[in-house]
Amino acid sequence: MYSGKKILLVEDSHFIAAVVGDYLEKNGFEIDNVITGEEAVEKVYDNSAPDLILMDIELAGKMNGIEAAKIINNHKELPIIFLTANASDKIIDQIRNISAYGFIEKGMDNSALLVTIEMALKLHAVKVEIKEKESILNAVINSVQDGMIMTDDKGYVSLWNPAAVQLFGYTKDEILGKELHELTVSNDFENMNNNGTINSLFADKKVKELKIKHKDGQVFDAEVSISSLKINDKDYYVGIFRDISDRIKAREELEKLSVTDYLTNTYNRRFFVNRLEEEIERFKRTGRVFSIAMLDVDKFKTINDKYGHSVGDLVLQNITDFIKKRIRKADCLARWGGEEFIILLADTPIADAGVLLEDLRLGISKIKIPNIDEFTGSFGAVGYMYGDTADMMIQKADNMMYKAKTCGRNCIKYMI
Ligand code: GH3
Ligand code: MG
Ligand code: MG
Repeated sequence: MYSGKKILLVEDSHFIAAVVGDYLEKNGFEIDNVITGEEAVEKVYDNSAPDLILMDIELAGKMNGIEAAKIINNHKELPIIFLTANASDKIIDQIRNISAYGFIEKGMDNSALLVTIEMALKLHAVKVEIKEKESILNAVINSVQDGMIMTDDKGYVSLWNPAAVQLFGYTKDEILGKELHELTVSNDFENMNNNGTINSLFADKKVKELKIKHKDGQVFDAEVSISSLKINDKDYYVGIFRDISDRIKAREELEKLSVTDYLTNTYNRRFFVNRLEEEIERFKRTGRVFSIAMLDVDKFKTINDKYGHSVGDLVLQNITDFIKKRIRKADCLARWGGEEFIILLADTPIADAGVLLEDLRLGISKIKIPNIDEFTGSFGAVGYMYGDTADMMIQKADNMMYKAKTCGRNCIKYMI
Protein backbone atom coordinates (compact mmCIF):
# COMPACT_ATOMS: atom_id res chain seq x y z
CA MET A 1 0.00 0.00 0.00
CA TYR A 2 2.80 2.45 0.84
CA SER A 3 5.35 0.94 -1.43
CA GLY A 4 7.99 3.41 -2.43
CA LYS A 5 7.20 5.92 0.35
CA LYS A 6 10.38 6.77 2.17
CA ILE A 7 10.42 7.38 5.92
CA LEU A 8 13.43 8.81 7.69
CA LEU A 9 13.49 7.39 11.18
CA VAL A 10 15.51 9.64 13.47
CA GLU A 11 15.94 7.46 16.53
CA ASP A 12 18.99 6.78 18.62
CA SER A 13 17.58 3.73 20.37
CA HIS A 14 18.50 0.72 18.24
CA PHE A 15 15.79 -1.28 19.83
CA ILE A 16 12.97 1.16 19.02
CA ALA A 17 14.40 1.84 15.59
CA ALA A 18 14.40 -1.87 14.87
CA VAL A 19 10.85 -2.49 16.13
CA VAL A 20 9.29 0.56 14.44
CA GLY A 21 11.38 0.15 11.31
CA ASP A 22 10.44 -3.53 10.93
CA TYR A 23 6.77 -2.83 11.34
CA LEU A 24 6.75 -0.02 8.81
CA GLU A 25 8.81 -2.02 6.31
CA LYS A 26 6.26 -4.78 6.59
CA ASN A 27 3.66 -2.21 5.60
CA GLY A 28 5.52 -1.30 2.46
CA PHE A 29 7.58 1.72 3.58
CA GLU A 30 11.24 2.18 2.79
CA ILE A 31 13.05 2.99 6.03
CA ASP A 32 16.22 4.97 6.47
CA ASN A 33 17.49 5.21 10.04
CA VAL A 34 19.79 7.89 11.46
CA ILE A 35 20.54 8.51 15.10
CA THR A 36 21.23 12.26 15.31
CA GLY A 37 19.38 15.45 14.32
CA GLU A 38 22.49 16.59 12.46
CA GLU A 39 22.35 13.55 10.19
CA ALA A 40 18.64 14.10 9.56
CA VAL A 41 19.28 17.71 8.54
CA GLU A 42 22.07 16.58 6.27
CA LYS A 43 19.81 14.05 4.52
CA VAL A 44 17.24 16.74 3.77
CA TYR A 45 19.86 19.21 2.58
CA ASP A 46 21.41 16.49 0.43
CA ASN A 47 18.36 16.31 -1.74
CA SER A 48 17.69 12.82 -0.50
CA ALA A 49 14.70 14.06 1.50
CA PRO A 50 12.21 11.38 2.55
CA ASP A 51 8.42 11.58 2.19
CA LEU A 52 8.02 11.76 5.96
CA ILE A 53 10.20 12.00 9.07
CA LEU A 54 9.62 10.18 12.32
CA MET A 55 11.63 12.21 14.80
CA ASP A 56 12.66 11.21 18.28
CA ILE A 57 13.02 14.17 20.61
CA GLU A 58 15.97 13.05 22.76
CA LEU A 59 18.75 12.25 20.34
CA ALA A 60 22.33 11.10 20.41
CA GLY A 61 23.89 14.26 18.94
CA LYS A 62 23.96 17.85 20.22
CA MET A 63 20.80 18.76 18.45
CA ASN A 64 17.50 17.53 19.81
CA GLY A 65 14.59 16.49 17.57
CA ILE A 66 12.72 19.75 17.90
CA GLU A 67 15.74 21.82 16.88
CA ALA A 68 16.39 19.50 13.94
CA ALA A 69 12.74 19.76 12.85
CA LYS A 70 12.93 23.57 12.89
CA ILE A 71 15.96 23.60 10.63
CA ILE A 72 14.42 21.04 8.29
CA ASN A 73 11.14 22.99 8.10
CA ASN A 74 12.94 26.16 7.17
CA HIS A 75 14.52 24.36 4.27
CA LYS A 76 11.69 22.18 3.02
CA GLU A 77 8.06 21.60 3.85
CA LEU A 78 8.06 17.97 5.02
CA PRO A 79 5.65 16.06 7.24
CA ILE A 80 7.39 15.49 10.57
CA ILE A 81 5.89 13.31 13.30
CA PHE A 82 7.54 13.25 16.71
CA LEU A 83 8.16 10.14 18.69
CA THR A 84 8.11 10.94 22.38
CA ALA A 85 8.98 8.90 25.37
CA ASN A 86 7.00 11.12 27.68
CA ALA A 87 4.67 13.75 26.25
CA SER A 88 5.08 16.42 28.91
CA ASP A 89 3.16 19.70 28.52
CA LYS A 90 6.41 21.46 27.82
CA ILE A 91 7.27 19.14 24.95
CA ILE A 92 3.77 19.31 23.51
CA ASP A 93 4.03 23.12 23.59
CA GLN A 94 7.31 23.01 21.73
CA ILE A 95 5.85 20.66 19.14
CA ARG A 96 2.87 22.96 18.72
CA ASN A 97 5.14 25.90 18.01
CA ILE A 98 6.66 24.32 14.96
CA SER A 99 4.58 23.13 12.12
CA ALA A 100 4.61 19.46 12.98
CA TYR A 101 2.11 16.87 11.85
CA GLY A 102 1.54 15.36 15.29
CA PHE A 103 3.28 13.13 17.79
CA ILE A 104 3.11 9.53 18.89
CA GLU A 105 4.07 8.21 22.26
CA LYS A 106 6.58 5.44 22.05
CA GLY A 107 5.08 2.11 22.90
CA MET A 108 1.63 2.91 21.59
CA ASP A 109 0.14 0.27 19.45
CA ASN A 110 1.40 0.05 15.91
CA SER A 111 -1.89 0.68 14.18
CA ALA A 112 -2.06 4.16 15.81
CA LEU A 113 1.41 4.81 14.36
CA LEU A 114 0.26 3.71 10.94
CA VAL A 115 -2.91 5.86 11.03
CA THR A 116 -0.93 8.92 12.15
CA ILE A 117 1.56 8.41 9.33
CA GLU A 118 -1.23 7.89 6.82
CA MET A 119 -3.02 11.09 7.91
CA ALA A 120 0.22 13.09 7.83
CA LEU A 121 0.99 11.93 4.29
CA LYS A 122 -2.53 12.84 3.12
CA LEU A 123 -2.44 16.24 4.82
CA HIS A 124 0.92 16.93 3.29
CA ALA A 125 -0.29 15.94 -0.17
CA VAL A 126 -3.21 18.37 0.18
CA LYS A 127 -0.87 21.14 1.38
CA VAL A 128 1.41 20.57 -1.59
CA GLU A 129 -1.53 20.67 -3.97
CA ILE A 130 -2.90 23.90 -2.47
CA LYS A 131 0.55 25.44 -2.59
CA GLU A 132 0.93 24.46 -6.21
CA LYS A 133 -2.45 25.90 -7.13
CA GLU A 134 -1.61 29.06 -5.25
CA SER A 135 1.68 29.38 -7.10
CA ILE A 136 -0.04 28.90 -10.45
CA LEU A 137 -2.67 31.50 -9.57
CA ASN A 138 -0.02 33.93 -8.35
CA ALA A 139 2.10 33.38 -11.42
CA VAL A 140 -0.89 34.16 -13.64
CA ILE A 141 -1.90 37.24 -11.64
CA ASN A 142 1.68 38.49 -11.54
CA SER A 143 2.38 37.95 -15.20
CA VAL A 144 -0.76 39.38 -16.82
CA GLN A 145 -0.23 42.68 -18.56
CA ASP A 146 -3.47 44.14 -17.24
CA GLY A 147 -3.98 45.64 -13.82
CA MET A 148 -5.89 43.12 -11.71
CA ILE A 149 -7.66 44.33 -8.64
CA MET A 150 -10.05 42.73 -6.21
CA THR A 151 -12.17 44.57 -3.69
CA ASP A 152 -14.72 43.41 -1.18
CA ASP A 153 -18.28 44.73 -1.22
CA LYS A 154 -17.20 47.85 0.66
CA GLY A 155 -14.60 48.72 -1.94
CA TYR A 156 -11.58 47.70 0.16
CA VAL A 157 -8.74 46.35 -1.94
CA SER A 158 -7.62 42.78 -1.32
CA LEU A 159 -5.66 42.03 -4.48
CA TRP A 160 -3.32 44.30 -6.42
CA ASN A 161 -1.02 42.79 -9.04
CA PRO A 162 2.29 44.18 -10.38
CA ALA A 163 0.58 45.52 -13.51
CA ALA A 164 -1.78 47.49 -11.23
CA VAL A 165 1.27 48.93 -9.45
CA GLN A 166 2.57 50.12 -12.82
CA LEU A 167 -0.79 51.44 -13.94
CA PHE A 168 -1.80 53.34 -10.80
CA GLY A 169 1.58 54.07 -9.26
CA TYR A 170 0.62 52.69 -5.84
CA THR A 171 2.53 49.79 -4.32
CA LYS A 172 0.68 46.86 -2.84
CA ASP A 173 1.52 48.06 0.69
CA GLU A 174 0.07 51.48 -0.05
CA ILE A 175 -3.25 50.19 -1.25
CA LEU A 176 -4.13 46.84 0.30
CA GLY A 177 -6.96 47.33 2.78
CA LYS A 178 -7.69 50.86 1.53
CA GLU A 179 -10.71 52.02 -0.38
CA LEU A 180 -10.04 51.86 -4.09
CA HIS A 181 -11.96 54.90 -5.25
CA GLU A 182 -10.41 57.22 -2.67
CA LEU A 183 -6.93 56.64 -3.94
CA THR A 184 -7.16 55.99 -7.58
CA VAL A 185 -10.07 57.03 -9.63
CA SER A 186 -11.16 60.28 -11.15
CA ASN A 187 -14.62 61.81 -11.37
CA ASP A 188 -16.27 58.92 -13.13
CA PHE A 189 -16.25 57.01 -9.91
CA GLU A 190 -18.04 59.71 -8.01
CA ASN A 191 -21.33 58.17 -9.06
CA MET A 192 -20.56 55.16 -6.96
CA ASN A 193 -23.12 54.20 -4.41
CA ASN A 194 -22.72 55.13 -0.77
CA ASN A 195 -20.66 52.25 0.42
CA GLY A 196 -18.09 52.94 -2.25
CA THR A 197 -18.52 49.89 -4.43
CA ILE A 198 -18.04 50.07 -8.12
CA ASN A 199 -20.78 47.65 -9.10
CA SER A 200 -23.34 50.44 -9.48
CA LEU A 201 -21.18 51.97 -12.21
CA PHE A 202 -21.19 48.72 -14.10
CA ALA A 203 -24.85 47.91 -13.76
CA ASP A 204 -25.53 48.42 -17.47
CA LYS A 205 -22.26 47.23 -19.00
CA LYS A 206 -19.48 44.94 -17.85
CA VAL A 207 -16.75 46.71 -19.82
CA LYS A 208 -16.32 50.47 -19.72
CA GLU A 209 -13.89 53.15 -20.66
CA LEU A 210 -13.07 55.30 -17.66
CA LYS A 211 -10.72 58.08 -16.72
CA ILE A 212 -8.31 56.88 -14.06
CA LYS A 213 -6.07 58.95 -11.83
CA HIS A 214 -2.46 57.84 -11.41
CA LYS A 215 -0.69 58.45 -8.09
CA ASP A 216 1.25 61.29 -9.72
CA GLY A 217 -2.04 63.03 -10.51
CA GLN A 218 -2.10 62.30 -14.23
CA VAL A 219 -5.39 61.12 -15.61
CA PHE A 220 -5.38 58.41 -18.26
CA ASP A 221 -7.94 56.43 -20.22
CA ALA A 222 -8.52 52.86 -19.17
CA GLU A 223 -10.75 50.07 -20.28
CA VAL A 224 -12.16 48.40 -17.21
CA SER A 225 -14.04 45.16 -16.95
CA ILE A 226 -15.66 44.19 -13.70
CA SER A 227 -16.97 40.85 -12.56
CA SER A 228 -18.64 40.17 -9.28
CA LEU A 229 -18.13 36.92 -7.44
CA LYS A 230 -19.14 35.27 -4.21
CA ILE A 231 -16.63 33.55 -1.95
CA ASN A 232 -18.06 31.96 1.19
CA ASP A 233 -21.22 34.04 0.82
CA LYS A 234 -19.30 37.31 0.63
CA ASP A 235 -19.38 39.55 -2.43
CA TYR A 236 -16.18 40.54 -4.17
CA TYR A 237 -15.41 42.49 -7.31
CA VAL A 238 -12.58 41.75 -9.68
CA GLY A 239 -11.55 44.57 -11.98
CA ILE A 240 -9.25 44.25 -14.98
CA PHE A 241 -7.77 47.60 -15.95
CA ARG A 242 -6.04 48.24 -19.26
CA ASP A 243 -4.38 51.49 -20.25
CA ILE A 244 -5.93 52.51 -23.57
CA SER A 245 -4.50 56.04 -23.84
CA ASP A 246 -2.76 55.13 -27.11
CA ARG A 247 -5.91 53.62 -28.53
CA ILE A 248 -8.00 56.64 -27.52
CA LYS A 249 -5.39 59.01 -28.96
CA ALA A 250 -5.34 57.13 -32.25
CA ARG A 251 -9.13 57.09 -32.31
CA GLU A 252 -9.28 60.84 -31.66
CA GLU A 253 -6.72 61.49 -34.37
CA LEU A 254 -8.69 59.35 -36.78
CA GLU A 255 -11.92 61.12 -35.85
CA LYS A 256 -10.24 64.47 -36.38
CA LEU A 257 -8.86 63.37 -39.75
CA SER A 258 -12.28 62.22 -40.86
CA VAL A 259 -13.74 65.70 -40.33
CA THR A 260 -10.76 67.80 -41.42
CA ASP A 261 -9.71 69.24 -44.75
CA TYR A 262 -6.07 68.28 -45.21
CA LEU A 263 -4.96 71.43 -47.08
CA THR A 264 -6.43 74.16 -44.90
CA ASN A 265 -6.90 72.26 -41.63
CA THR A 266 -10.47 73.50 -41.45
CA TYR A 267 -13.50 71.23 -41.08
CA ASN A 268 -14.78 69.41 -44.13
CA ARG A 269 -18.16 69.60 -45.78
CA ARG A 270 -19.58 66.55 -43.99
CA PHE A 271 -18.71 67.94 -40.58
CA PHE A 272 -20.18 71.31 -41.42
CA VAL A 273 -23.52 69.91 -42.52
CA ASN A 274 -23.74 67.92 -39.25
CA ARG A 275 -22.83 70.98 -37.25
CA LEU A 276 -25.44 73.05 -39.08
CA GLU A 277 -28.12 70.43 -38.45
CA GLU A 278 -27.18 70.41 -34.76
CA GLU A 279 -27.44 74.18 -34.67
CA ILE A 280 -30.93 74.03 -36.18
CA GLU A 281 -31.93 71.51 -33.50
CA ARG A 282 -30.43 73.77 -30.84
CA PHE A 283 -32.51 76.65 -32.16
CA LYS A 284 -35.62 74.53 -31.71
CA ARG A 285 -34.69 73.96 -28.04
CA THR A 286 -33.28 77.34 -27.12
CA GLY A 287 -34.60 79.80 -29.72
CA ARG A 288 -31.05 81.03 -30.31
CA VAL A 289 -30.64 82.18 -33.90
CA PHE A 290 -27.47 82.00 -35.98
CA SER A 291 -26.18 82.83 -39.45
CA ILE A 292 -24.07 81.22 -42.12
CA ALA A 293 -21.92 82.74 -44.84
CA MET A 294 -20.51 81.27 -48.03
CA LEU A 295 -17.18 82.68 -49.25
CA ASP A 296 -15.68 82.20 -52.70
CA VAL A 297 -12.22 83.50 -53.55
CA ASP A 298 -12.41 85.92 -56.46
CA LYS A 299 -10.64 85.14 -59.73
CA PHE A 300 -8.76 82.37 -58.07
CA LYS A 301 -8.14 80.66 -61.36
CA THR A 302 -5.94 83.58 -62.42
CA ILE A 303 -3.84 83.21 -59.23
CA ASN A 304 -3.25 79.56 -60.09
CA ASP A 305 -2.54 80.40 -63.68
CA LYS A 306 -0.15 83.21 -62.82
CA TYR A 307 1.80 81.71 -59.93
CA GLY A 308 1.12 77.99 -60.05
CA HIS A 309 -1.07 75.64 -58.06
CA SER A 310 1.13 75.58 -54.94
CA VAL A 311 0.92 79.35 -54.57
CA GLY A 312 -2.83 78.96 -54.97
CA ASP A 313 -2.72 76.51 -52.07
CA LEU A 314 -0.74 78.99 -50.02
CA VAL A 315 -3.36 81.67 -50.67
CA LEU A 316 -6.11 79.33 -49.45
CA GLN A 317 -4.09 78.57 -46.30
CA ASN A 318 -3.50 82.27 -45.63
CA ILE A 319 -7.19 83.03 -45.99
CA THR A 320 -8.30 80.23 -43.66
CA ASP A 321 -5.59 81.00 -41.07
CA PHE A 322 -6.82 84.57 -40.99
CA ILE A 323 -10.49 83.58 -40.64
CA LYS A 324 -9.73 81.00 -37.91
CA LYS A 325 -8.04 83.69 -35.85
CA ARG A 326 -10.91 86.09 -36.24
CA ILE A 327 -13.97 83.91 -35.54
CA ARG A 328 -15.00 82.61 -32.09
CA LYS A 329 -14.61 79.13 -30.74
CA ALA A 330 -18.32 78.45 -31.04
CA ASP A 331 -18.25 79.36 -34.74
CA CYS A 332 -17.30 76.88 -37.41
CA LEU A 333 -15.23 77.29 -40.56
CA ALA A 334 -15.27 74.57 -43.21
CA ARG A 335 -13.98 74.11 -46.72
CA TRP A 336 -17.00 73.68 -48.90
CA GLY A 337 -14.92 72.70 -51.93
CA GLY A 338 -12.17 74.16 -54.16
CA GLU A 339 -11.80 77.83 -53.19
CA GLU A 340 -15.15 78.02 -51.44
CA PHE A 341 -15.55 78.15 -47.69
CA ILE A 342 -18.53 78.25 -45.39
CA ILE A 343 -18.79 79.78 -41.93
CA LEU A 344 -21.35 79.22 -39.20
CA LEU A 345 -21.71 82.13 -36.81
CA ALA A 346 -23.29 80.75 -33.65
CA ASP A 347 -25.67 82.95 -31.63
CA THR A 348 -25.50 85.63 -34.30
CA PRO A 349 -28.63 87.01 -35.99
CA ILE A 350 -28.00 88.10 -39.57
CA ALA A 351 -28.37 91.75 -38.53
CA ASP A 352 -25.29 91.33 -36.30
CA ALA A 353 -23.24 89.23 -38.73
CA GLY A 354 -22.19 92.18 -40.85
CA VAL A 355 -19.52 93.49 -38.50
CA LEU A 356 -17.57 90.26 -38.50
CA LEU A 357 -18.11 89.47 -42.18
CA GLU A 358 -17.03 92.96 -43.19
CA ASP A 359 -13.89 92.46 -41.07
CA LEU A 360 -13.24 89.19 -42.87
CA ARG A 361 -13.80 90.65 -46.33
CA LEU A 362 -11.51 93.61 -45.63
CA GLY A 363 -8.94 91.47 -43.83
CA ILE A 364 -8.68 89.01 -46.74
CA SER A 365 -8.13 91.85 -49.18
CA LYS A 366 -5.24 93.07 -47.01
CA ILE A 367 -3.42 89.77 -46.66
CA LYS A 368 0.08 90.22 -48.02
CA ILE A 369 2.06 87.35 -49.49
CA PRO A 370 5.46 88.50 -50.82
CA ASN A 371 5.56 88.88 -54.64
CA ILE A 372 1.90 87.85 -55.03
CA ASP A 373 -0.94 90.14 -56.13
CA GLU A 374 -3.59 90.90 -53.60
CA PHE A 375 -6.75 88.81 -53.64
CA THR A 376 -10.33 89.18 -52.46
CA GLY A 377 -13.42 87.14 -51.69
CA SER A 378 -17.15 87.39 -52.31
CA PHE A 379 -19.59 86.54 -49.53
CA GLY A 380 -23.22 85.46 -49.37
CA ALA A 381 -24.81 85.52 -45.92
CA VAL A 382 -28.08 84.27 -44.56
CA GLY A 383 -29.68 84.13 -41.12
CA TYR A 384 -31.64 81.14 -39.88
CA MET A 385 -35.34 81.45 -40.56
CA TYR A 386 -37.95 79.33 -38.93
CA GLY A 387 -38.53 76.18 -40.98
CA ASP A 388 -35.15 76.28 -42.74
CA THR A 389 -33.35 73.00 -43.31
CA ALA A 390 -29.56 72.82 -43.61
CA ASP A 391 -29.80 72.38 -47.39
CA MET A 392 -32.12 75.36 -47.71
CA MET A 393 -29.78 77.63 -45.77
CA ILE A 394 -26.74 76.54 -47.76
CA GLN A 395 -28.59 77.08 -51.04
CA LYS A 396 -29.61 80.57 -49.97
CA ALA A 397 -26.08 81.48 -48.92
CA ASP A 398 -24.77 80.18 -52.24
CA ASN A 399 -27.31 82.25 -54.16
CA MET A 400 -26.27 85.35 -52.23
CA MET A 401 -22.61 84.62 -52.91
CA TYR A 402 -23.32 84.49 -56.65
CA LYS A 403 -25.15 87.74 -56.33
CA ALA A 404 -21.97 89.22 -54.79
CA LYS A 405 -20.02 87.90 -57.79
CA THR A 406 -22.38 89.56 -60.24
CA CYS A 407 -22.25 92.78 -58.25
CA GLY A 408 -18.54 93.15 -58.92
CA ARG A 409 -16.98 90.72 -56.34
CA ASN A 410 -15.16 91.65 -53.06
CA CYS A 411 -18.49 92.36 -51.39
CA ILE A 412 -21.10 90.74 -49.12
CA LYS A 413 -24.72 90.10 -50.05
CA TYR A 414 -27.19 89.35 -47.25
CA MET A 415 -30.53 87.66 -47.44
CA ILE A 416 -32.56 89.54 -44.89
P1 GH3 B 1 -14.74 83.62 -59.55
O1 GH3 B 1 -14.29 84.95 -59.04
O2 GH3 B 1 -15.85 83.68 -60.46
O3 GH3 B 1 -14.98 82.69 -58.39
O4 GH3 B 1 -13.52 83.07 -60.39
P2 GH3 B 1 -12.59 81.87 -60.00
O5 GH3 B 1 -11.45 81.87 -60.94
O6 GH3 B 1 -12.25 81.92 -58.59
O7 GH3 B 1 -13.55 80.66 -60.26
P3 GH3 B 1 -13.38 79.31 -61.01
O8 GH3 B 1 -14.47 78.45 -60.50
O9 GH3 B 1 -13.32 79.58 -62.47
O10 GH3 B 1 -12.00 78.74 -60.58
C1 GH3 B 1 -11.74 78.18 -59.35
C2 GH3 B 1 -10.36 77.61 -59.39
O11 GH3 B 1 -9.93 77.12 -58.13
C3 GH3 B 1 -10.26 76.46 -60.36
C4 GH3 B 1 -9.55 75.37 -59.58
O12 GH3 B 1 -8.49 74.78 -60.28
C5 GH3 B 1 -9.02 76.10 -58.38
N1 GH3 B 1 -8.88 75.25 -57.24
C6 GH3 B 1 -9.82 74.47 -56.67
N2 GH3 B 1 -9.30 73.81 -55.62
C7 GH3 B 1 -8.02 74.19 -55.51
C8 GH3 B 1 -6.95 73.87 -54.61
O13 GH3 B 1 -7.09 73.07 -53.69
N3 GH3 B 1 -5.76 74.46 -54.78
C9 GH3 B 1 -5.55 75.33 -55.80
N4 GH3 B 1 -4.36 75.88 -55.93
N5 GH3 B 1 -6.53 75.63 -56.67
C10 GH3 B 1 -7.74 75.09 -56.52
MG1 MG C 1 -15.77 78.73 -56.92
MG1 MG D 1 -13.79 81.77 -57.16
